[in-house]
Amino acid sequence: MLFGRLRDVFLTLRFRLTAWVTLVVFLVVLIAMLSVRQVVLRALDNEFDQRLVQDMEDIKHIIPQYFTDERKFKEFVNRRGLAHIHVDWFVQIYDPKGILRWATDNAPRLPPPRVPPVEAPVDQSSVRVVQAIVQPADYPPLLIRLGSTRLSIDDDIALLNFIMIFASAAILVLAPLSAYVLAGRATRPISKIITTTSRLHPKNLDERLPLLGTGDDLDQLSSTINGMLDRIAAYIDSNRDFIANAAHELRSPLAAIRSSVDVALDRLRTPDEYAALLTDVAEECARLTNLVNRLLVLAEGDAGRLAAQHHNARLDKVVRESVSMFEAVAESKGIELKLAGLAPATVPGEEYHLRQVVRNLLDNAIKFTPAQGRIAVDLATDPDKRQTRLRVSDSGVGIAAEDLTRIFERFYRADKSRRREHGPGGNGLGLAICQTIVSALHGHIDVESQVGHGSVFTVTLPLASPTPIP
Ligand code: ADP
Repeated sequence: MLFGRLRDVFLTLRFRLTAWVTLVVFLVVLIAMLSVRQVVLRALDNEFDQRLVQDMEDIKHIIPQYFTDERKFKEFVNRRGLAHIHVDWFVQIYDPKGILRWATDNAPRLPPPRVPPVEAPVDQSSVRVVQAIVQPADYPPLLIRLGSTRLSIDDDIALLNFIMIFASAAILVLAPLSAYVLAGRATRPISKIITTTSRLHPKNLDERLPLLGTGDDLDQLSSTINGMLDRIAAYIDSNRDFIANAAHELRSPLAAIRSSVDVALDRLRTPDEYAALLTDVAEECARLTNLVNRLLVLAEGDAGRLAAQHHNARLDKVVRESVSMFEAVAESKGIELKLAGLAPATVPGEEYHLRQVVRNLLDNAIKFTPAQGRIAVDLATDPDKRQTRLRVSDSGVGIAAEDLTRIFERFYRADKSRRREHGPGGNGLGLAICQTIVSALHGHIDVESQVGHGSVFTVTLPLASPTPIP
């Protein structure tokens, strides 16, 4: 339980940002401090060596007094030694045979210097020494060794180390604290996004993420999520409307069937009466079947199962058959139905679906065209664009501009009162089905219309690719 909670904290973006920032800051500062330490150490060493070399130069100048006025010489050397506070500064004088002739009291016991001596400053035991051969005029040569402990430098280094450890400890405390506060500020909008989106539910999609107007990535993320929520809410709304409308449309044939059955069961009836009632039931069942089939096509379209896969169909054949099928109805209404053009066209898709498109368009054209009207069907192909175009034009009642944008919506009927005038049967799904099928076949459907003058529906579909010659 505790482990799980700790793991949740470790997984948060805030914690990870804090850890990364702390690590990076700590490493950068550590590398910077070590580099500075190295430079300071080198500078201290150089300065120390230069002082030794300078002391040696001074001793070289004073060395003749070692022979002429030894007391003065020793005074000089001791004065110089005292000037080096906190360090053991010493001088040793050897004869050419390597025998120690004189040394300051604090000189450590060291092996005799090598001959010829190394003149550059070197470490010997725990001291740093510089050596030289001095040849005073009229006197035998002397080997001088001058040395000093590094105590003062060691003190400086110890101080430097202490500062570094203290600074590292301070960074280890301050860096995570400040990184945690900053990461908290940076991730606050994300926490807001998480709490708001976790409150969302299909029944409550009204809430939106606040936009701070900074235009940064998080603001863009919030605006993208808001856009997505808008689309989901619209989709859920349209689905709700669709279910309510579908239930409503299913209810009327079911109610009609129920009432016919009630009448039949009410009392004993004559065979003719039963036959009439059963005919009504059969008609309502046919309406129900038709409606359910239409709903199924839409559902398949939504599920992406209408897309043409391996089937090709002859659209010209479907158009010719459909026009012949509607000729009788058109004639009975006194409408002229003409096939103006019929170019051969094979399109990828199921013949059954193409038939539904053509029949819905013809059915509407006949339904909304009064007697003496004209309907023309024209199928043309454009081999260059590899597409075919079916045009169904009528001289019917036309569609008002405000309805034109909505007639492809599910269950939308432009003018309910006028619909009754043009006979029953429409439930506002015909054009929605046409659009679903045509879109699934990668085509599009357009309409142009003028009230009182008629409408033109145009379906454009891609042609099937020619079968390669083996
Ligand atoms: P329905 O099945 O009710 O005809 P559709 O989806 O096929 O539904 O059509 C939707 C609406 O578009 C119809 O109710 C009608 O108002 C209008 N409409 C469709 N085709 C035509 C047309 N050729 N002429 C005039 N109005 C039309």
